[in-house]
Amino acid sequence: MGRTPFYVTTPIYYVNAEPHLGTAYTTIAADAIARYRRMTGHDVRFLTGLDEHGQKIAQAAEEHGMDPQAWVDSIAPTFTDAWKMLGISNDDFIRTTEERHKRGVAAFWTKLHDEGWLYQGHYEGWYCVPDETFWTEDQLEGGMCPQCGREVQHIREDNWFFKLSEFGDRLLEFYAANPEFVQPDTRRNEVVSFVTGGLKDLSISRTNFTWGVPLPFAEGHVTYVWIDALLNYITALGYGSDDSAEQERFARYWPADYHFVGKDIIRFHCVIWPAMLMAAGIEPPKQVFAHGFLLTKGEKMSKSKGNAQTPASLVERFGVDAYRYYFLRDVAFGHDGSISMEGMVQRYNGDLANDWGNLCSRLFNMTEKYFDGHAPARPVIADETAEDETMRAIAGSLPETYEDHMQRLDYSAALDSAWELIKFANRYIENSAPWTLAKEGDTARLAAVLYNALEAVRIAALFTAPVMPNTSAEVWRRLGLGDITQVTDVLAAAEWGGLAEGSPVTKGEALFPRIYDEV
Ligand SMILES: [Zn+2]
Repeated sequence: MGRTPFYVTTPIYYVNAEPHLGTAYTTIAADAIARYRRMTGHDVRFLTGLDEHGQKIAQAAEEHGMDPQAWVDSIAPTFTDAWKMLGISNDDFIRTTEERHKRGVAAFWTKLHDEGWLYQGHYEGWYCVPDETFWTEDQLEGGMCPQCGREVQHIREDNWFFKLSEFGDRLLEFYAANPEFVQPDTRRNEVVSFVTGGLKDLSISRTNFTWGVPLPFAEGHVTYVWIDALLNYITALGYGSDDSAEQERFARYWPADYHFVGKDIIRFHCVIWPAMLMAAGIEPPKQVFAHGFLLTKGEKMSKSKGNAQTPASLVERFGVDAYRYYFLRDVAFGHDGSISMEGMVQRYNGDLANDWGNLCSRLFNMTEKYFDGHAPARPVIADETAEDETMRAIAGSLPETYEDHMQRLDYSAALDSAWELIKFANRYIENSAPWTLAKEGDTARLAAVLYNALEAVRIAALFTAPVMPNTSAEVWRRLGLGDITQVTDVLAAAEWGGLAEGSPVTKGEALFPRIYDEV
């Protein structure tokens, strides 16, 4: 099997918080690249999961009078259900309370311990329980947690430490040799200047509670939850297993092509994580991509107003594909972006109902009406008009343009390039006026126009599929084509002329019925 492996991950989400617009955003973005890479023939592994350890979870379980495992088991389905609702195509779902994870973490610590990267020390300082984060005296702001503003606890513990301070030079060399490792560039500059400022050794264990993965060589010590969480990316592939199939899987997919993270957890992923891997003799991931935050201007998206939108409420109103489209189209990936209900309605009615949905329904209708629901024959190139040629050229350059944008995870630009074809096809229909051709009895030109426009629709469906998988599958069904999710060579599939003469075309319901009620 010659397919190139491709491994993409989301952060594992903290089980105490419900899936929200932010976690859904990261997960949809990872899903879109996973789906696209399956279409480009890659052997894709897409991982997401849950972070289920730590003091805060132990406390929440206690408040609910539950055992921590029973507590996390009761919440985990809200995530798997949400991702199912959003059409997420993950190949694996890891929970840090699973045996395979605990075994991998234990193997990792044993290795670092044996090789002298760990030592027993003593930590005295401040700890924010809600953030599960250590702070030094001078990091506090007004005596409070600099991250969340809440009270911090003074703690004194015997901990195990990782010699992170010895990795500064190696990390800086690594960033210099791999400029793509941290993306976007602004984040790389932030990481480089942090490391240049000097690294301190890192406490990797806690002793005042037990809800975590034990350090195999130190009784009473459990792994600090943030470090436990990072290791999921390798334990899910089988790191630390004795099983040869698991070992092969790890060798096949690691290093990851992308870790998708929010910009708030970049130090863990771009400083601590590669240093830990270097210490264990494992290659760091190829790229950590930090996306921005979703800013809510429109009242109805805002949490503070007490009527926050959830993924489920937006899906109910707009449908899954429109939801996925809006967030990837309107927010430039890697930057903060404003989202609003008004913006979402506008995108829906403009791009989806008017441009894409309308193009499909007009064409499918006319094919039923004028050609009895069968695709006409492909016209000969010698008879092409200038407009025919332009549309064929736009469709012809789309695969390459789209690939360029997706390489940079620029979803917005990738969708724009697909929309260039959709918009042109709409103009093409207007200018060619098939209804007039039908009235005049010019069947040859009518057949040519419909064929060309149907072909544009078929190709546009391929390139909107990573973001809007359900709609594209439906468009292909209505064109009498096979299952679009089986496409593994998008370049071949996108070649002009793929629609066979006589293919059964059905009109069906509107793909994106207009939304009239205003916000
Ligand atoms: Zn805090």
